[in-house]
Amino acid sequence: MEIMEERMSLLSVIVPCYNEEESVELFYSELFKNQPFFDEKDIDVELLFIDDGSRDQTVAEVKRLRAQDERVRLISFSRNFGKEAAMYAGLEHSKGDYVVIMDVDLQDPPALLPEMYSYMEEGYDSVATRRVTRKGEPPIRSFFARLFYRLMKKISKTEMMDGARDYRLMTRQMVDSILAMEEYNRFTKGIFGWVGYRTKWLEFENVERAKGETKWNFWKLLLYSLDGITAFSTAPLMLSSFMGVLFAIIAFLLIVFIIVRKLIFGDPVSGWPSLVCIILCTSSIQFFCIGIVGQYLAKTYMEVKRRPIYLVKEEL
Ligand code: UDP
Ligand code: MG
Repeated sequence: MEIMEERMSLLSVIVPCYNEEESVELFYSELFKNQPFFDEKDIDVELLFIDDGSRDQTVAEVKRLRAQDERVRLISFSRNFGKEAAMYAGLEHSKGDYVVIMDVDLQDPPALLPEMYSYMEEGYDSVATRRVTRKGEPPIRSFFARLFYRLMKKISKTEMMDGARDYRLMTRQMVDSILAMEEYNRFTKGIFGWVGYRTKWLEFENVERAKGETKWNFWKLLLYSLDGITAFSTAPLMLSSFMGVLFAIIAFLLIVFIIVRKLIFGDPVSGWPSLVCIILCTSSIQFFCIGIVGQYLAKTYMEVKRRPIYLVKEEL
């Protein structure tokens, strides 16, 4: 007979899906391999599939699962809004005392959940994961990813861990803090770091995608990393000031040099090509810096519009 009645805690599992018809069911069965653990810890689960405007059978797959299992929920977007929007929608709709975000392609192994949960019991507010290897990834992608994290370490005050995944278990309190950040240009890896809280990092070896293929190409990732930079650092805006000072110094030294040369040697006129080079060089740097300002202006413009981050077409 049970003497103490302990309240069941609810765990929300948020899974962004974009054209993932092959992975949905596989993910479901993989996740509920943890059922003995959920039972042992008295954890109720709600599984939120966020359909990010898929054009394949993803929604039908989720509905099929829902017909068998009440714990499955579906939020379907009116079009593709991107993974960031899907994660935000998931967090907004989640009701759990604990919330975890996972990819549907099993690159975030559900088998790690019990270990993650054990750290929450120890009193951490969040358990985050990072992969220590990038096995199976194109080398050029790894190279730029590393470069990005090294750069961010220098130019941003917000902590961002190399290889960090969005796979993270959080308390309700931390989720509410994340939701309080209503910015339109969302870069969750930075947002996690920005809100703080006591975080435990778990490391795991890279797992290759179970089914289907990656939704990110090199170009998309590059643009995403630029989003990350503009969202969490204003250091690039300083660049034009630095360049200005640097070029003023160079110009001053050149003027002195030219005057001295004129006084000592006289001046055979021969400055045309070098003059053209200098003009081209400085004006291209000016354009580059205006471009940087433009990036921030564009982001500010989008924020000011205060458009919704996503639109729901259907919710079950
Ligand atoms: N995803 C999404 N919207 C998008 C792109 C991706 O919801 O516009 C989801 C995708 O279904 C997957 C997760 O985000 O569950 C990670 O995507 P993917 O596996 O393609 O990225 P990678 O692991 O290659 O970085
Ligand atoms: Mg993946």
